[in-house]
Amino acid sequence: MSRSAGTRADPRSYDLDDLRERVLGERGGAVDDSIPQLARADAELCALALVLPDGTVRTSAQADAAFSVQSAVKPFLFALALLDTGGQALDRIGIEPTGESFDAIKLETGTGRPPNPMVNAGALLTASLVEGGDVAGRQERIVEGLSAFAAQDLEVDEDVAQSEHLLGDRNHALAHLMRAEGTLSVGADDAVAVYARACAVLVDARALAVMGATLACGGRNPVSGRRIVPPQVARDVVSVMATCGVYDGSGRWMRSVGVPAKSSVSGGIVLSAPDVLGAAVVSPPLDEQGTSVRGRIASEELSAELGLHVFASGGT
Ligand code: GLU
Repeated sequence: MSRSAGTRADPRSYDLDDLRERVLGERGGAVDDSIPQLARADAELCALALVLPDGTVRTSAQADAAFSVQSAVKPFLFALALLDTGGQALDRIGIEPTGESFDAIKLETGTGRPPNPMVNAGALLTASLVEGGDVAGRQERIVEGLSAFAAQDLEVDEDVAQSEHLLGDRNHALAHLMRAEGTLSVGADDAVAVYARACAVLVDARALAVMGATLACGGRNPVSGRRIVPPQVARDVVSVMATCGVYDGSGRWMRSVGVPAKSSVSGGIVLSAPDVLGAAVVSPPLDEQGTSVRGRIASEELSAELGLHVFASGGT
């Protein structure tokens, strides 16, 4: 199906609806059932969007269908934590891949720090480092910060936030463990409340692609023209997406797609190809590693057809 490197497609005329049609027939995977709202997701939803550095936005059908951002929020929580702590968040959290699932009850050996910001332990911590004083203040700052990345006012699905908070037993366990290790300085329940609400922010493929493009453009939002985070922050975040963004599937992802990305249980994937484009794919059925099955296939195709793989040489 893929084009050879010699006939690389142009993202400005690339047919996203054709790619969507090609992956729609894929029936593999299962919709997440960790909370009732996700279990009810439409397994047929499939949408793609890409955003170029000059602010051009290209979308497929269903690119305005809303879904909760879930773990695709983690790169942006990390970015906000780096911004608000002047980079000191890096002393509080590891940046090594775990080879384990997203919610593994495991901290870094010897330090008790979360292993990296792309797993749940890490995101509970980064969300706690965002400025705001109290729980409500941090929640507000996070929604504002994510909205700046998306160049639009984002909203929270309060039912999803409540379910995540109530039913996220492993997140509560991780927060308590980090309290016991002395690495989480806010209350365990407060940490879960803030992270749960961040996961419940509603996006669509278009908004998520703009967010990915902001990281790909060194922290400047190509749609609003605003600088959201400094280039160093964007570079740090995209680096960790490349090594840890697809959990225990990160190695396979970098080999087959070759674009830094973050997956999520709602089936959304955000991709950041520095200086080239940001993209998002969403389709709820997930594989064993919690990655959207259609999202992975579409990302592989997109990468091959647009020549996005960071480690592919142009040579024959
Ligand atoms: N809200 C989910 C959790 O914390 C996010 C996990 C994911 O999207 O991978 O369990």
